[in-house]
Amino acid sequence: MHAEFKSTESEDRYPLSQVIYRGKNGELLEVSHDRKAWNSRTPQEWKTLFAERRLSFNVADLSGVWSKRELVLPELPESDIVSLQEGWTPLFNAERLAKEIGIKNLRVKLCGNSHTGSFKDLGMTVLVSQVNHLVKNGAPIKAVACASTGDTSAALSAYCAKAGIPSIVFLPAGRISVAQLVQPIANGSIVLALDTDFDGCMKIVQDVTADKSIYLANSMNSLRIEGQKTIAYEIAQELGWKLPDTLIIPGGNLGNVSALAKGIDDLLALGLVEKKPRIIVAQSENANPFYLAYKSNFDKFEAVQAKKTLASAIQIGNPVSYPKAVQAIKNYNGIVEEVSEQELSDAAHRADKIGLYNCPHTGVALSALFKLRERGEIASDESVVVISTAHGLKFSEFKSKYHENSLEGISPKYANAILRLPADANKVKDALRRYA
Ligand SMILES: *Cc1c(COP(=O)(O)O)cnc(C)c1O
Repeated sequence: MHAEFKSTESEDRYPLSQVIYRGKNGELLEVSHDRKAWNSRTPQEWKTLFAERRLSFNVADLSGVWSKRELVLPELPESDIVSLQEGWTPLFNAERLAKEIGIKNLRVKLCGNSHTGSFKDLGMTVLVSQVNHLVKNGAPIKAVACASTGDTSAALSAYCAKAGIPSIVFLPAGRISVAQLVQPIANGSIVLALDTDFDGCMKIVQDVTADKSIYLANSMNSLRIEGQKTIAYEIAQELGWKLPDTLIIPGGNLGNVSALAKGIDDLLALGLVEKKPRIIVAQSENANPFYLAYKSNFDKFEAVQAKKTLASAIQIGNPVSYPKAVQAIKNYNGIVEEVSEQELSDAAHRADKIGLYNCPHTGVALSALFKLRERGEIASDESVVVISTAHGLKFSEFKSKYHENSLEGISPKYANAILRLPADANKVKDALRRYA
């Protein structure tokens, strides 16, 4: 089996060993697989292979990404894989919430239950493994760099540290959570905090990596999409090789929705699933260029100046993967929805009440679910999977301030205030009587 980079606008192709991020006209590239070769196994043979690997303790098989290696990077030697056992994250059955909002079933794919606490691990294992392979074969790469709203840098830093490859991260000063900032510091990256936003960091990192001795790890790098697309494989496998009617995902730079769609394309091409699901992308009103473009039927795209949002990882005004995401929405009968700060905060914490622990971005997706259900655009007989992109523990301030009612401009509907009482059993009993 074989894979190579292909232009998304022409027939131009490049080997995966080349350090290249865009085509001749600046267009995005994609990793293109020889899908005909996939027919060397029948759908049933693929299913059996993947089921067997689920029982194996081989390093590659333990990874949700590399257990599908033929469909990810078929020619990468297994010995070059840099893995932190990414993938195989829980598919949380939110039956109580499904009942509350009146849909057939609701599951939440907890992509943040992973090494660095976000789905970015899925793409980063592929990118860093490929770089590791190139470096081992003598490529003149000194370091790997990225601009980040927090989670990409955490993932890059951990995978590079595992492989012993230097890394450099460009962060917008003061705009990411403490946990996100500490991760690359701890893993030994060179950490640059710049007085600009994500889009500003992106411009600078592209300039710095232009000579190719520093490798660029941002999501325009289509290697990351190959890891992230396995979210679709995993959901299908966990549901008995079926996808839900509807998948909801928060979107910033729009790499993840592009990856989700590519994963579904693969499953359909392999004959592993038959029915096309629908994809819904959710954005924050404060960073909504994709929503605005959707409203104009994708006739035109205009970048926006992203305003501050609690969903800081999607505070992006000029999404790199816009053309791929438009295709994803068109192919999968998609909808784009926007939600306010109040809505995303309440949605995240409403869903926490059934045992989840949601980050603000997952709140964006959940809030879109609630709104579309209320408007009847999601029907009562639908099965839905929400993609949760990060672990709530990375956003402790968002969560503790919500419950303390100290988030600026937010009146928390689901706050659960602490009872502060003297150490007196009678006073405690009095207080508890109010609940009994
Ligand atoms: C990166 C990220 C997103 C957005 O993904 P894109 O591929 O940029 O659309 C959403 N949520 C979290 C937690 C992220 O880290």
